[in-house]
Amino acid sequence: MTYTLGEYMAQRKRKTKRKSSQKLTVKQLHALVKFLVVMDIVLLLSIAVLTILLVQEKEKSKTAMAPGTDYIVCLDAGHGGSDIGATGADGRYEKDDNLKLTLAVAKELEKRGVHVVLTRDDDSTVSSDDRSAIANESGADLFLALHRNFAASSSACGVEAWIHSSASDKSYDIASSILEALESIGISKNRGVKTGTQWDVESNYTVIRQTTMTSLIIEVGFISNEEDLELFDRNLEQYAQAIADCIVNWLNQYAER
Ligand SMILES: [Zn+2]
Repeated sequence: MTYTLGEYMAQRKRKTKRKSSQKLTVKQLHALVKFLVVMDIVLLLSIAVLTILLVQEKEKSKTAMAPGTDYIVCLDAGHGGSDIGATGADGRYEKDDNLKLTLAVAKELEKRGVHVVLTRDDDSTVSSDDRSAIANESGADLFLALHRNFAASSSACGVEAWIHSSASDKSYDIASSILEALESIGISKNRGVKTGTQWDVESNYTVIRQTTMTSLIIEVGFISNEEDLELFDRNLEQYAQAIADCIVNWLNQYAER
C-alpha cells in the first residue's frame, strides 16, 4: 500500500492520537486499581477492628463479673499432708494433682474478679470437718472440691461429678456445665453427674453434706489410668480456665448478691 505524503501524515496523526488516548486510559486504570486497593485495605482493616471489638465484647460478657457483685468461691483441694489420697499409675500422689489444679483454678477465678477461699494452699493435712467449716464461715456462694479418681482396674477412665442426693437444678447445672466444658477440651470419657456416694445414693460425702451452700466434687480423671494421667498433665491450664468460666457463668446466673 502506498500513501501520498499528506495521507501518511494524516495516518500518523490518527495513530498518535489513538496512542495518547490509550495512555490516558492506562493511567486512569492504574489510578482506579490503586484506589480499589486502598479501599480494600481500609475495608479489611475496618472488618478486623470490628471483629476484635466484637470478640472482646463477647469474652467480657462471658467471663466478667457483673459490676458491684462480690462473689466468694471456696475451693477444696482433696486430701493433703499425711492423707496422700490415691496413688497414680506412675507413682504420683492424688493430693499433689488436686492442689496443682486447685491453685490453677484459683488463679483463673481471681483474674475474673471472684474472691477465692482455699481449704489448703500447701501440702497440709486438713480434716473434712475443717474443710466444711472453712467454707461455711467464709460465706461462700459455691464449694468445689477437686479430686482424682481411682480404680483397681487400670482401664477405668473419665471425669465425673458428685452432688448432694437432694440437690436442686442449681447444683446439677454447675456440675454438668463443668463436665461438658472439660469434655470439649478433651477427656477420655464424660461419666456424668452423680448423686449421693458411690456406695449409697441416699448418703453424701462429708464435705457435700456439711457445707451449707451449693457444693460439688469433681473427680478429674482416674489417677490409675495412663491416658487420664496424660490428659490431666497436658490440659491442666485449659481445664482450670474452663472451670473458672463455668463458675463465673453460674454465679452470674444463680448467686444472690
Ligand atoms: Zn480423692
